[in-house]
Amino acid sequence: HADPRLALVGSDTEVPLVSGEMRRFVNLDYAASAPALRAVHDAVEELLGWYSSVHRGAGFKSRASTAAYEGARESIRRFVGGRSDDAVIITRNTTDSINLLAASLPPGTHVIAFAGEHHANLLPWRRLKAHYLNAPATPALMLEQLESALSALPHGAAARLVAVTGASNVTGEIWPIAEIARVAHAHGARVLVDAAQLAPHSPIDMAADDIDYLAFSGHKLYAPYGAGALLGRRDWLASGDPFLRGGGAVKLVSIAETLWAELPERQEAGSPNVLGAVALGVACDTLVAVGMARIAAEERELLGYALGRLAAVDGFHPLRVWPAEHARVGLVTFAVRGMPYDLLAAALSAEHGIGIRHGCFCAHPLMVSLLEISDAEVHRLFDETRLGHHERLPGAARASLGLGSTRADVDALCTALDALVADGPRWTYSVDPDTGMY
Ligand code: PMP
Repeated sequence: HADPRLALVGSDTEVPLVSGEMRRFVNLDYAASAPALRAVHDAVEELLGWYSSVHRGAGFKSRASTAAYEGARESIRRFVGGRSDDAVIITRNTTDSINLLAASLPPGTHVIAFAGEHHANLLPWRRLKAHYLNAPATPALMLEQLESALSALPHGAAARLVAVTGASNVTGEIWPIAEIARVAHAHGARVLVDAAQLAPHSPIDMAADDIDYLAFSGHKLYAPYGAGALLGRRDWLASGDPFLRGGGAVKLVSIAETLWAELPERQEAGSPNVLGAVALGVACDTLVAVGMARIAAEERELLGYALGRLAAVDGFHPLRVWPAEHARVGLVTFAVRGMPYDLLAAALSAEHGIGIRHGCFCAHPLMVSLLEISDAEVHRLFDETRLGHHERLPGAARASLGLGSTRADVDALCTALDALVADGPRWTYSVDPDTGMY
């Protein structure tokens, strides 16, 4: 990136091609995990010299680690515009955050979610009273569907939660979270936003948009794996038993009794991940300093360029998305006529040094609807899979952009796709039956 504050680690890595040649790696898979910011790398490297147990030690290093850990919490809050009284819980990742919230809901809570969600925002609700709505065809339809689903809920005292994505990891669509929150609140429901894909690509203001809960992951936000966050209203998170039980989450324990600690410690049992939290905090501070609005605008410009270039590739077919006037993050999921998506991904990597993601993106119900797979076929796949046969839901290819992405990366992808369309893969690939990878 032209701004030195946004320099990434490893952006000039060379990788071997199947020909034996070395080639600069073209990373077009930011939506899965992003490389670390240089600033994050430097902070982690420094902290490796002196980290120590958080909240548990009187030694200087423990006290300094505790201060760094608590500082990260405030950086996270600032980054997403959290209210001063929101709990900021440091988790492992978005999946962990959403499962934590799911375990904290008052008994009998009705949860409404769309079938367009990542499994992380679909499966945790299965244990509860979940109502799934069809993946919306436009934002306006989404609000209508939500309105009628909320109106149809049984009257009564049961709590209500609307769980939505901030931006889809399959289509890139940015969901209208402020409007969703308005509709939800009008019906006495709270809103959770899965911001795993939104946070790296767009400004977020929980307070202004009246978002009750927000979850995201550090590893998609230019920090390493192992730290994420859940922010939100304290009452549900502070009642009932904590999601995890153990040291750090308690005030007092006898063999017969437990007194749980206040938030956030109550929901952070076990030794905290100080390195991960500090890394995430530094990423948040860096992105705030540069300005997410500017980062989003630059990415939009590059996405526009990519969509224009890709449209010229013979046989290129993007998966259905909302009409172009609606905002999207920098990713495109696509098929190329006549070329299996998994072979395409394998050949892009092996012959061109380009890394994309392929498959179903942990969003099977959405892919079933986007690829128009029939119910009968889905049942057949379940039956075959139960029998242990190597069958898979069909998928697609996804190229996604981030801070290090350039027009040259997009050009490299389009040139490689042109070559694959014209000549086919130059090598022969075989499929590993267990992983389905070529
Ligand atoms: N939600 C969305 C929209 C995602 O893209 C992802 C990651 N692919 C997740 C949730 C889960 O994130 P994590 O694997 O970091 O828990």
